[in-house]
Amino acid sequence: MSNNPDTKAIPKVYDPKKVEDHWYEKWLEKGYFDANVNSEKKPYSIVIPPPNVTAALHMGHALNNTIQDVLIRFRRKQGWEALWLPGTDHAGIATQNVVEKQLRSESLSRYDLGREAFVKRVWEWREKYGNTIILQLKKMGCSCDWRRERFTMEEKYSYAVMEVFIRLYNKGLIYKGKYIINWCPRCSTALSDEEVEHKQVEGNLWYIKYLIKDSNDHLVVATTRPETMLGDTAVAVHPDDKRFKNLIGKTAILPLLNREIPIIGDPQVDPEFGTGAVKVTPAHDPNDFAIGQRHNLAQINIMNEDASLNANAGWFVNLDRFEARKKVIEELKNQNLLLKIEKHTHNVGHCHRCGTMVEPYLSEQWFVRMKDLAKPALEVVKNGKTELHPEERWLKTYINWLENVRDWCISRQLWWGHRIPVYYCENCEHMMVAHQAPQKCGECGSKKIYQDADVLDTWFSSWLWPFATLGWPEETEDLKYFYPTSALITAADIIFFWVSRMVMAGLEFMNEVPFKDVYLNGIVRDETGLKMSKSYGNGIDPLEIIDEYSADAMRFTLMMIGSDGQDINLSKSHFEIGRNFSNKIWNAYRFLAMNLEEPNDNYMDYLEHFDIADRWILSRLNRTIADATKGLEDFRINETSKLIYHFFWDDFCDWYLEIIKTKLYSDEHPQIRQAAQVLATHILKSSMSLLHPYIPFITEEIWQQLKTGDEESLVISEWQQANPQFIDEAIEQKMDFLQRIISSIRSIRSEMNVPPAKKAQLIFRTTDKAAEDMLHEHAHYLQQLGNIESIREFESENDLKSTATAVVDNVELFLPLAGLIDLEIEKQRMKKEIDRITSQIQGLEKKLSNENFLAKAPEKVVQQEKEKLSNFKQKLNKLHINFDRLN
Ligand SMILES: [Zn+2]
Ligand SMILES: [Zn+2]
Repeated sequence: MSNNPDTKAIPKVYDPKKVEDHWYEKWLEKGYFDANVNSEKKPYSIVIPPPNVTAALHMGHALNNTIQDVLIRFRRKQGWEALWLPGTDHAGIATQNVVEKQLRSESLSRYDLGREAFVKRVWEWREKYGNTIILQLKKMGCSCDWRRERFTMEEKYSYAVMEVFIRLYNKGLIYKGKYIINWCPRCSTALSDEEVEHKQVEGNLWYIKYLIKDSNDHLVVATTRPETMLGDTAVAVHPDDKRFKNLIGKTAILPLLNREIPIIGDPQVDPEFGTGAVKVTPAHDPNDFAIGQRHNLAQINIMNEDASLNANAGWFVNLDRFEARKKVIEELKNQNLLLKIEKHTHNVGHCHRCGTMVEPYLSEQWFVRMKDLAKPALEVVKNGKTELHPEERWLKTYINWLENVRDWCISRQLWWGHRIPVYYCENCEHMMVAHQAPQKCGECGSKKIYQDADVLDTWFSSWLWPFATLGWPEETEDLKYFYPTSALITAADIIFFWVSRMVMAGLEFMNEVPFKDVYLNGIVRDETGLKMSKSYGNGIDPLEIIDEYSADAMRFTLMMIGSDGQDINLSKSHFEIGRNFSNKIWNAYRFLAMNLEEPNDNYMDYLEHFDIADRWILSRLNRTIADATKGLEDFRINETSKLIYHFFWDDFCDWYLEIIKTKLYSDEHPQIRQAAQVLATHILKSSMSLLHPYIPFITEEIWQQLKTGDEESLVISEWQQANPQFIDEAIEQKMDFLQRIISSIRSIRSEMNVPPAKKAQLIFRTTDKAAEDMLHEHAHYLQQLGNIESIREFESENDLKSTATAVVDNVELFLPLAGLIDLEIEKQRMKKEIDRITSQIQGLEKKLSNENFLAKAPEKVVQQEKEKLSNFKQKLNKLHINFDRLN
């Protein structure tokens, strides 16, 4: 036994609380996460998808950041200059909403404070609370270079945002225009198409009668939003629709307001929808806007920014949009102009921040022309300069979106954000685009200059993230060295918002893709498959999990239950997987440490003493190193975690440590004992190194106890290379054969209720000489691990009496049962068990043939009962076989 005094101090149970914070502080102290320009090393860089300053860590972040940390830790150990650059996003609408909510609780609005004071208030909020998620990422073990933390609203970053605006404007890629945009009346701002969530809504289709001027004729139009008729400037029909041919060119009278509007023919009109005639409201519907452009129709905006009606709506002025709808309907009824109401389900856009029904709204906004930017961004993904993982899932989506990209509305009517760098002359309305407010107007010389009131869409700053965080527009050494970044790891739901736009910006401003690989991780859902969200109340708080299970357990569980790029269905009990693994690791370490004189992993000194088991575990280790390295390089992050897990748990703990127990406990052959000690230490240490990217804390804790010489920390210790000399296919096959024999013996023993204290006899029959030699040569392992007393070859039919049998490859195994168990008692026990199972089966069969039950029970319950029945039948079958063995 050990004479190392320290090992007595190894706690029986692993306590992550004592370990995790301790090591994280040490790592920071030593500056292990810091990355610097280093001409001796190749750069590997990842920029974090900047979480919103309002964010608190949720399971989606936990998953995403675990993957990033795995890659960064792996590459750092592999010898790259690995930079993980952290930071946060100012998150325009989200943050403004949080602070406005705070103000509301003080009975104030942002207008009470005024723009300057409100923005100051948001900064104060950010100072106080904006750091939450950064602290939580540290708790998770993220190995970011925290010296480099960036924020999209800080001064230097803001300068880069302005620079981008100015350059695109000067190139003619940014323009101001009247356009139908998505408007949130609650947030009082424009939303980009991607910020609108479409939901199915039960509504109505209203049929309204429009009279024709100077005739007794009329038209009927159908609409889902009757109040918008107040802004109609035409009625349109399909030009080939015979029903209406003679009406094109005539004039209709707009009900309620009695305005005269033209009847036009436009191919966009669907003759199958409603009556085939539609009202045209260019200021309140994107399709009507397009028709209006073709026919030069007036655009009458009938709404205020809060979706109440304005003076253009005549006597409906000041009514809210839903109030107005009621009033319009009521009035149409009074005038007998409402012919029909039909139930109608349709898609309606809602603000993704506040859930308010979005209003299509005509307004003056700033846009980025996307077509020219999209082309090269499409090209680099098609030609593989940037690769998506998993590609088969996302390539089509990405291409499809970029091929159909629309201009990007980048102005927002908010106060929190980068204010648009456009200035106007109060005197002559001359427009100037610049970093600073011009002293005077370039046209008329007036000194009365004012700035555009709008701010930029949050994504207009985050699309620069990969290069602006490295110093752009300055040509810094960092930028030259770390750009393009190596990989982007992000949730797939922002592939349009963010990923594709970053590719565009990178190509436009750096002439180079922003990242070589994009790994799109899945969504974390609850156990029923519902997306986790605050509003459903089905989230699991990562901090609670870290507190209850540990950061390692959380990280490892997320890796083990997912498969790369797929969504995860997660329940709290899953975290047992991670905790159990930590405990398994700890127990293996503890067992070994108690049987070591001193840490020594120099296994090369003992090669001559290795037997089949030693050579097998060494081969398995080296194969695992090779596969894990390849797996991580190919972005098979989840798959690789499982690979290492099974090596450690199955091969190392369940087999190898069991195998060497007798060697460790025996003083007979000190060389052989030492060989086992040293090799087991090597395997354990190597496993810690392989697992370190996934579970950094426990692996460092154990590795520190086993380190030798001038080794410092697992964080910076070298990633191992597989040694092909030790990968031995033949040894693995032989060992596999022995393992299957031992497993067969073990399962017979357990099925036949053989008490552990009774050693069995093994008889085998084979014509395979090699197998026969193997069994003789390694009889001691079969004896030790199969609880076997003696092994011999088959002699006569007599050997088959009261014998359990099994077949492994071309070897028959016989285990005589007499003497191991009382055959009569066992027979009776089995008989009872057979009777019990049989009656269970009868009961279930009866239930499943009952039509009443089948009709009433939920599908899931029926399925469960069927599975139960099939399990019972299998069990019964097995019992019969075993029962026959006893005769
Ligand atoms: Zn909103
Ligand atoms: Zn002027």
